[in-house]
Amino acid sequence: MAKSEKINLLDYTSEDLKAFFLERGEKPFRATQVIKWIHQHGVDNFDDMTNVSKSLREELSGFAEIRAPEIAIDDRSNDGTHKWLLRLDDGNCIETVFIPEEGRGTLCISSQVGCALDCTFCSTARQGFNRNLTVGEIIGQLWLAKNILQPNPEDDRVITNVVMMGMGEPLLNFEKVVKAMELMLDDNAYGLSKRRVTLSTSGVVPALDRLKDRIDVSLAISLHAPNDALRDQLVPVNRKYPIKQLLDSCNNFMQGKANREKITIEYVMLDGVNDSDENARELAVLLRDVPCKVNLIPFNPFPETRYKRSSNNRIHRFRDILENAGLIVMTRKTRGEDIDAACGQLAGKVNDKSRRDIHFARIES
Ligand code: SAH
Repeated sequence: MAKSEKINLLDYTSEDLKAFFLERGEKPFRATQVIKWIHQHGVDNFDDMTNVSKSLREELSGFAEIRAPEIAIDDRSNDGTHKWLLRLDDGNCIETVFIPEEGRGTLCISSQVGCALDCTFCSTARQGFNRNLTVGEIIGQLWLAKNILQPNPEDDRVITNVVMMGMGEPLLNFEKVVKAMELMLDDNAYGLSKRRVTLSTSGVVPALDRLKDRIDVSLAISLHAPNDALRDQLVPVNRKYPIKQLLDSCNNFMQGKANREKITIEYVMLDGVNDSDENARELAVLLRDVPCKVNLIPFNPFPETRYKRSSNNRIHRFRDILENAGLIVMTRKTRGEDIDAACGQLAGKVNDKSRRDIHFARIES
């Protein structure tokens, strides 16, 4: 895709666009009109914005555009899972996945090109880190998927949930991710409820502490281990922000929320690594006072990984121990494996700019 000098209106939240129009001597309600055209109607051409004056439309098309990433590959799994490889202006590629289920449809969105966190069981980590996505590149994934899956805005909702569980660590791209999530919640844009927008993090504690004051969305924590010794190996950011700090931050995040709201604790089931009875018992004690539900994710293998998925029997046994200790547990069904669209398999195409030895320098708050 050729680089463009025009400003991309996908980068703007309602507030941003109001300020932008005010500066240009336009009324703020113009921003609401334009946001609705872009995100509710999926319009990318100013001429289609029929309730916007012709002169403003002409002016806007002179210096602005609505430009989502380009679709490089469009893959569909036998089970209905849909994966797009999207090419960005700089040639890097990211992945977005749509997972249809009974009564709902979840879009899994990327927040960075690659990832700096080096979780040992994740294929994105193997790519290294290149850069943060812009607001337009993050919300552009939803904009594109909605236009493809739900071309008529009057249709019933096809995409009912959005999870920030694609490539990247969303809390390390804090401002852009927050703005993109503002658009997801905005009634003039996608109007999703806060229970249907989930940010998943491996635990960048200072950023998590800040999130509560910025936006109210659902939270998922990639815990994957019941103690620091094991988590230090699987999720290296734990060496910087250990489990106790992370769970304190989670409890703080949940303070003042309704009882039915819960944090999702993600736990990838790795054969012989973190799936013993002892691990389950330790996890149950650890989570005793955390308002959470546990999501057991069968490990999804990728080439050259040293891990194996736990057997179904092991996952059941692990689940029973947690449930007997009073925890709410779900086992995630693996979807889209035939097109490498399953959790942790998103690879994209990344020019690795990270230097592994300075990974931790990058983890700023
Ligand atoms: N960086 C964020 C979001 C991206 S990963 C985070 O860590 O939460 C989304 C989820 O997929 C995380 O829970 C992650 O740990 C999990 N995951 C990564 N690789 C996986 C794999 N190979 N199999 C199963 N789940 C995996």
